[in-house]
Amino acid sequence: MSDRVAIVGAGIAGATAAYRAAEAGLQPVVFERLDRVGGRINSIRKGDFVFDPGASVFLPSYSHAVELIKEIGLGADLSHTTANAAFPRNGQLHEIPYGLRGILSTKYISTASKLKALKLGIFMLRNQKHLGYGDSSGIAALDTESVADYCSRELNDELHEYVAGMMVRGTWLSSTAESSVGLLLWTLKNVGAPGLHGIRGGNVRLPQKLLEGLEVRLGQTVTNVTADGDEAVVTCEGSDPERFSACIITTPADQAVAMYPQMSAVQRKLYDGIAYSALVNVSLGLATRPQIPAAYVLVAPCESDELIGVIADHVKAPGRAPDHKGLITITIDGRSAWAQQHDGEPDQVFIDKALELIRPYYGDLRDQIEEHNVARWPQVVPVNATGYFKRIAAYEQSINDRDPVHFAGDLDPVAGLNAACVSGDKAAARVVRRAANTRRRTTVGAR
Ligand SMILES: Cc1cc2nc3c(=O)[nH]c(=O)nc-3n(C[C@H](O)[C@H](O)[C@H](O)COP(=O)(O)OP(=O)(O)OC[C@H]3O[C@@H](n4cnc5c(N)ncnc54)[C@H](O)[C@@H]3O)c2cc1C
Repeated sequence: MSDRVAIVGAGIAGATAAYRAAEAGLQPVVFERLDRVGGRINSIRKGDFVFDPGASVFLPSYSHAVELIKEIGLGADLSHTTANAAFPRNGQLHEIPYGLRGILSTKYISTASKLKALKLGIFMLRNQKHLGYGDSSGIAALDTESVADYCSRELNDELHEYVAGMMVRGTWLSSTAESSVGLLLWTLKNVGAPGLHGIRGGNVRLPQKLLEGLEVRLGQTVTNVTADGDEAVVTCEGSDPERFSACIITTPADQAVAMYPQMSAVQRKLYDGIAYSALVNVSLGLATRPQIPAAYVLVAPCESDELIGVIADHVKAPGRAPDHKGLITITIDGRSAWAQQHDGEPDQVFIDKALELIRPYYGDLRDQIEEHNVARWPQVVPVNATGYFKRIAAYEQSINDRDPVHFAGDLDPVAGLNAACVSGDKAAARVVRRAANTRRRTTVGAR
């Protein structure tokens, strides 16, 4: 059997899988339908500014991605800022320094709610060993009710709206009614660490560097993958089928189902049920720096239906804007009624809306704009609805190393660039083990 392994998708999951496969001596061939690598990670330079229109925030808990960055020689370009986050309430911005003192002193929520929030903190601490990456069985056991149901049972309205609501929508673009309480606990543990990382020159440098020197076929849309005996057969639009020793599919769920009709019932149950959140990112390169020092602003849904938050790119990472200039990204909920109503309209409509949404906190920035970028993303991350973690855990249990077709991507157990790295690593490890076993069997057979 050949050592050629097909990887479908050149996002971060596919890039990590390809890098690991090559490192183990296999020959990855990456198929990517776009004319660029990175998938939902992208970076664009316009004038003085470096925009990250896709995945933007690189959390301190992304230890797997950090190790990978160092391993491939990008460590010197990895930055860390300790800047705070800020949260609006009734038009006023509350900046909360990291740590207990910040939480105790903030007027963002009442003292009664702070005391009540201890319950949530204890719930999270008791379960924190289940709230990592790579194994969904622990979090599956917590996946019993929605965030909204948990809040009304154990917390109060203020915590529901201003803490739980802000966290699940601010980080996952989903509502408390649709999200599993497991997601809230996971977020509390992994998003709470101080500061942010950044990659100098743009986040896309990570998948680009991983894929350097490997065979990447851009502009190739895979239409079908078939497991045929010990091999995987991959067909691209307008091309003949090609045989590989294995294939790793790293596309979002609906595309994976469409290209691999042989998918098992347990995996199909997971993939068919996945809905994605949507986002319109309006990034503005500004002539001067806004005075708000926070790295990001997250907005509770009860404060705004459309505005999810603002990322201060110039604070988040070095080199996104010159020292005296600013770069901010306003994130608008793509599933909000306003965004649906204006779907397909010109960029200026979204820029005007973004300026209006942030005016109470940033003032009028209209005359400050030097460059802009509007990015519309119909698929951002899966909505982790109640029951989702149980379905992921069941799927993980069903994975068979011996199969020629494997999967990686957003499901590990919570989406994001670190999770995609972890899942790319794991899928590559399965394929590498499988290749080693095949070689061993062939050698023994030949004796
Ligand atoms: C706007 C936005 C903001 C985000 N913000 C953050 C953030 O701040 N922090 C964070 O950690 N995560 C964030 N995410 C999520 C993060 O980007 C994703 O979880 C992660 O990048 C997913 O990587 P992936 O490789 O699994 O999938 P993708 O990046 O989607 O890669 C899949 C690739 O497969 C290709 N493909 C699809 N179908 C085919 C086909 N038929 N043939 C060939 N190729 C195909 C696609 O073009 C794509 O390149 C954000 C995502 C978006 C969209």
